[in-house]
Amino acid sequence: IIILAIETSCDETSAAVVKNGRTVLSNMISSQIELHRRYGGVVPEIASRKHVEMISPIIDEALEEAGMGFEQLDCIAVTFGPGLVGALLVGMSIAKALAYALRLPLVGVDHIEGHISANYIAHPELEPPFLCLVVSGGHTHLVWVKDYGEYSLIGQTRDDAAGEAYDKVARALGLNYPGGPAIDSIAKHGNAEAVQFPRAYMEEDNFDFSFSGLKTAVLNYLNSLKQRNESYNVADIAASFQQAVVDVLVTKTIKAAQKIGVTRIAMAGGVAANSSLRECMKQKAQECGFELYYPSPVLCTDNAAMIACAAYYSLMKGKIHDLSLTVEPSFSNIVSSRTQCG
Ligand code: ATP
Ligand code: MG
Ligand code: FE
Repeated sequence: IIILAIETSCDETSAAVVKNGRTVLSNMISSQIELHRRYGGVVPEIASRKHVEMISPIIDEALEEAGMGFEQLDCIAVTFGPGLVGALLVGMSIAKALAYALRLPLVGVDHIEGHISANYIAHPELEPPFLCLVVSGGHTHLVWVKDYGEYSLIGQTRDDAAGEAYDKVARALGLNYPGGPAIDSIAKHGNAEAVQFPRAYMEEDNFDFSFSGLKTAVLNYLNSLKQRNESYNVADIAASFQQAVVDVLVTKTIKAAQKIGVTRIAMAGGVAANSSLRECMKQKAQECGFELYYPSPVLCTDNAAMIACAAYYSLMKGKIHDLSLTVEPSFSNIVSSRTQCG
C-alpha cells in the first residue's frame, strides 16, 4: 500500500510517500521558520499563503524522490486538524482534488495521532500498547495508546503547552524563534541549578500539567533583575527553566506508566527533540525498567510521513472518508478520549 500524505496544519508544508505504513520513500518538508521569525511567532495569514505557493511543488518533489507517479498511489492522506484553519484548508483542498481526480480513498488524519505515529516509523518493532508523552507547540498530553487508533487521554496541560512555554521564555531571553531549539542549545552551557523555578503539580496525584506559572516565574525573575540593573546569565536561566520543565514531564510520565502498567514509553512532538528531555527520560526509564522510544528530531516536528503512517492504520481498519471531509481546527480524537485515571 502506497500512501501520499499531506501536512499543512501550521508552518511546515510537507508531503510524503510511505509504503505499508512504516517505510518512508520520501518526506519533503518546506519550513516557514525564516518567514515568521521577524514576528516572533507564526502569523496565520502568512502561513496560509505560503502553503498555497509550496504545496504543489512539494507534492511533485515527494513523488519524484520516491520514484513514483500518481498512478502508483493507493491512498491520499491529509491532516484535518487540529491546527490553523487557513493552513489546514490548503492541504485539505489539494488532498480532496487528488483523491477525486485519481479515484483514490481519502483518509483524514488527526495531527496528534500523526505525532504519536512517528514512533512507528522510527521503531519498526514498536507496537501498542504503550504510554506516549505528546509534547508539541500546542499540546502536552499523556496518551495511553491501547491499540492502533485506540487512545485514552490520561493527562494534559491545564494552560500552556510545554513548547509554548519554551517559545515564550526564549523570547523573553532575547533568543531567536523558534525558542525550543534555541533554549536547548544555550542551556548546554548553563547551570540548571542556578535558579529554583517552580515545578507545578509535581507531587500531585494526577497526570495533568501546568506551565504558565513557570513561564510567569521566569518572566518575573528576569524583570526584577532588569529593574535592579543586574546582569544575568542567559544560559543559566535557560538551563534552570528547562530543568523545571523536564523534571515535571519525566516524573509525571514515569508515574503514569507505573499506574497504568505499561512496559513501554514513547515521546512525540517538537519538544520530544529536546536533548535534555531525551537524556533524563532515558535515565529514568532505564532505572524504572521501561523501554523508551522517540523519533529522530525531523520526525518529532511536523512532517507528512507521520501522517501517512497514521493513515495506513486507519485504512487497515476501513476508516476512510469521502469528499465531505472538512478541516477541524480545534478538534482532536485524542483530546476527546479523556478518561479518569488518577
Ligand atoms: P501542535 O503539534 O501541537 O499542533 P506544532 O505542530 O506547532 O503544534 P511541533 O511542530 O510538534 O508543534 O513542535 C514545535 C514546537 O516544538 C515548538 O514549540 C518548538 O519550540 C518546540 N521544539 C522544537 N525543537 C525543540 C527542542 N530541541 N527543544 C525544545 N523544544 C523544541
Ligand atoms: Mg512548526
Ligand atoms: Fe505538530
